[in-house]
Amino acid sequence: MSSVKVAVRVRPFNQREIDLDAQLIIQMRDKTTGILNSKANIRDESIRYKEFTFDYSYWSHKEDSNYASQETVYNNLGKEVIDCAFEGYNACIFAYGQTGSGKTFTMMGSPENPGLIPRICKALFEKMAENSKRGTTHRVQVSYLEIYQERVADLLRGTSSLKVREHPKKGPYVQGLTTTLVTNYGHIQDCMDRGNSHRTTAATNMNDVSSRSHAIFTITFVQAGYCDGVPSETVSKIHLVDLAGSERADSTGATGQRLKEGAHINKSLVTLGSVISALAEISVDQNAQKKSIFIPYRDSVLTWLLKDSLGGNSKTIMIAAISPADCNYGETLSTLRYANRAK
Ligand code: ADP
Ligand code: MG
Repeated sequence: MSSVKVAVRVRPFNQREIDLDAQLIIQMRDKTTGILNSKANIRDESIRYKEFTFDYSYWSHKEDSNYASQETVYNNLGKEVIDCAFEGYNACIFAYGQTGSGKTFTMMGSPENPGLIPRICKALFEKMAENSKRGTTHRVQVSYLEIYQERVADLLRGTSSLKVREHPKKGPYVQGLTTTLVTNYGHIQDCMDRGNSHRTTAATNMNDVSSRSHAIFTITFVQAGYCDGVPSETVSKIHLVDLAGSERADSTGATGQRLKEGAHINKSLVTLGSVISALAEISVDQNAQKKSIFIPYRDSVLTWLLKDSLGGNSKTIMIAAISPADCNYGETLSTLRYANRAK
């Protein structure tokens, strides 16, 4: 099983870019995404144009052959996560990218155009209804947390500064985190709505309201049945992660408190990058496991909490969200490089 998958998704131009008369610098063909450095005086072709290959390169205009709707993204990536869960494996989907690049659009979407999280939840309940006809019973629990400055907040209850602990057998967990038992899609939707209203946001120069925190929506899925006449339970976890903006603190004109946040956010993102690229290395080189490549899970709260769902038999999906415009060249290139390391 190939355990790490990477997709890139470019959003349409936003109003700010249109007002700036920004130029398109992204090209996509099949699996490849190319980025053009539009500075006129660059002659060296390897600097002027860079190309990367991913599992998917998604365009945002219907006319294009690389176009991917919310439904396509779900069919390509979300379905696999559902299959994984029913087979008893854990999975993580991460949305990475600078603020305003389309992370929340891809993960949560809007009521008219739902993203991966609502689609996965819906499909989970549909598939459970089918399976329960065959005698399996299921239990679904959700939790929704936020990591802000390496501290954990409970988005379902709106409480902050929870402690991360490690159980000798069960692994890392957040002490006192609310887990809500959900029995239908409407119920899970209430949890999403409640959590979204608690997300910490603050103004930066870059966007009126931008997300400075990592949000993790976790679905714990338990299947109970009989195995050779003996009752048995299979537990799988799906973590759906809307990461904080990846922009460097300096490019948003941040100072003081904002700058400090930037440093913390980067620590989690840098560690996540290292963990995923180590895992990707292991999945291509079976001997690497024997060489015991060190995976720095404990270097950030984000990776520590997700330790049991990163690596092993777990599925990891990274979606890198990017802007199409030349004014975001630096951030977009750094996002493509980050995604490229995860392959
Ligand atoms: P982020 O969460 O990365 O800060 P958002 O998801 O909020 O960014 O996206 C910023 C804006 O761009 C939103 O108005 C969103 O609806 C729009 N957008 C993002 N991605 C797409 C896309 N693929 N197609 C259409 N609109 C998009
Ligand atoms: Mg967002």
